[in-house]
Amino acid sequence: MGTETKKTIQFPYSLTVRDLAAKLGTSAVQVIKILMANGVMASINQTVDFDTASVVAAELGFEPQLEQEEEVVEEVGELPLWRQLIAGESEASLENRPPIVTILGHVDHGKTTLLDAIRHTDVAGGEVGGITQHIGAYQVTHKEKLITFLDTPGHAAFSSMRARGAQGADIVILVVAADDGVQPQTREAANHAKAAQVPIVVALNKIDKTDANLDRVKRQLADIGLQPDEWEGNTFVVPVSAKAKKGLDDLLETVILVADNLTIKANPKGKCIGTVVEASLDKTTGPMATLLVQNGTLKVGDIVIAGEGYGRIKAMFDQRRKRVSKALPSTPVRIMGLNALPEAGDLFQVAANEKEARSIVAERKAEREAKRSNKRATLEELFSRVKAGEAKELRLILKADVQGSLEPIVNSLEELGKKEKDITIKVLHAEPGSITESDVMLAAASNAIVMGFDVDIDQGGRRAAEAEGVSIRIYNIIYRLLEDVEKALKGMLEPELVEKVIGKANVLATFKVSKGGIAAGCRVVSGEIRRNAQVKVVRAGEVVFSGDILSIKREKDEVRDVREGMECGITVRNYEAFEIGDVIESFVMEKFGG
Ligand code: GDP
Repeated sequence: MGTETKKTIQFPYSLTVRDLAAKLGTSAVQVIKILMANGVMASINQTVDFDTASVVAAELGFEPQLEQEEEVVEEVGELPLWRQLIAGESEASLENRPPIVTILGHVDHGKTTLLDAIRHTDVAGGEVGGITQHIGAYQVTHKEKLITFLDTPGHAAFSSMRARGAQGADIVILVVAADDGVQPQTREAANHAKAAQVPIVVALNKIDKTDANLDRVKRQLADIGLQPDEWEGNTFVVPVSAKAKKGLDDLLETVILVADNLTIKANPKGKCIGTVVEASLDKTTGPMATLLVQNGTLKVGDIVIAGEGYGRIKAMFDQRRKRVSKALPSTPVRIMGLNALPEAGDLFQVAANEKEARSIVAERKAEREAKRSNKRATLEELFSRVKAGEAKELRLILKADVQGSLEPIVNSLEELGKKEKDITIKVLHAEPGSITESDVMLAAASNAIVMGFDVDIDQGGRRAAEAEGVSIRIYNIIYRLLEDVEKALKGMLEPELVEKVIGKANVLATFKVSKGGIAAGCRVVSGEIRRNAQVKVVRAGEVVFSGDILSIKREKDEVRDVREGMECGITVRNYEAFEIGDVIESFVMEKFGG
């Protein structure tokens, strides 16, 4: 036994004695004996952790290794972004690359200060007094290992990037101020990271403050499922002071430790692909973009496609404004040469030639259009995915007026989920307050539906839902909400009613009508305006009124409808405040997909 050369064998974090024996090709009794010899009493169905399993494996002449949790990833059906990016690469071609880290957390908890402090720990890389340019990402060297940081908080495009930002990263540092504790955005960030399956390291910041209470925050962390390691959990919690530059080495050390336990690889010779971190228009050089290479090597002269722009890279710069000629995986570089400004969060790739670039960009534009018209990740659609075996989870984001209404809803949903065999209900995020852009972005990133109970959708939320095609359902009776989820699970949900615009008219004048009231003198510019349809008055893109038409007049005659090109006078029930330049939209309610 164990006389041949050592064979490697992979185990998960924990497994039963029975499974361990099977993996080692020996009997359970044999394993139990070895365990006993090492002071561990375990029965056949008991689980042992990786370290214990390793001892047994070693005794039997195996070299134990921690299994990558690929199976788990596949079960959820969504791979982290980098895995998708290297999906075509052979195992043998993959090489280690620096981990990509993003810093998330509640406002004012110290993200920016921490990012700056970490940036300045890089004595090896930075020339003294050298200017480090903020390009959206930077790299530091810690104990001869490179770490790439995404530098996005506070960025205007950050709220929409947050979802993608977490997906693009290998590790999330969650900053929590020791005096303020877990706050809404802390929970939200934790949920983003969990949804994207990115491990979290907590930076417990501001420990220099007199009112810092580390234990309290650790308890709060445990409450949101981030059990600190010192309490037998698996979340590292590192006390730091970004301001006093304390604990930074420990934090970087921990990041490297976590990174070492993940597979962080890419093929530097493979297809060059990655993410746009930031982009801006420079007066003299045109569009400039920071690209984070995630596979392959980016070189000056390459033809890059980023978002809906493309072009040959004329020049490339690193974070210290130094010209570079190539960038390896996990390296951020600022590039010059794109013909249009991509958006932060867009993917980029290198094309074989300009012709290919042009055709890919054209395809992308068409896809975007298609997405726009085919949006609505609705409950119905989710159900059909469940039926087709594509989804095993109904993911929800819940917002309610008060904490008190959330609890019964979440509890009832959990009960409901238990009744179903083929699908689970997963509440990714539940919180009081109106539905915001960030809720919608989380839903978009994790294919979830947003449900509200007695809440509004704010402006940003509405816009994001429209752009990302996320379905939002609002209820004011708990029972109805639960009923809809139950129906969705059973595939019996009534199609939603959606608005269909049938015509638009421009307001050219306003005038008093004989019966009293104000009419809008209009020209129909598309479709038709129907008397029995509903109308919206739109001013500068915003809906200022929505209601019914009282009358449509052509010359002196009342008519039932007016078509494109015609002029008419329109009066609307309960509305008179028309302004020249307003658009009147005529719409009907139609069953979506019905
Ligand atoms: P962000 O909104 O998360 O990016 O937070 P900032 O980095 O802007 O920090 C918010 C405030 O907290 C600023 O006034 C910082 O100076 C302060 N701050 C950040 N880190 C620390 C720290 O470790 N200790 C103390 N006392 N203050 C800090």
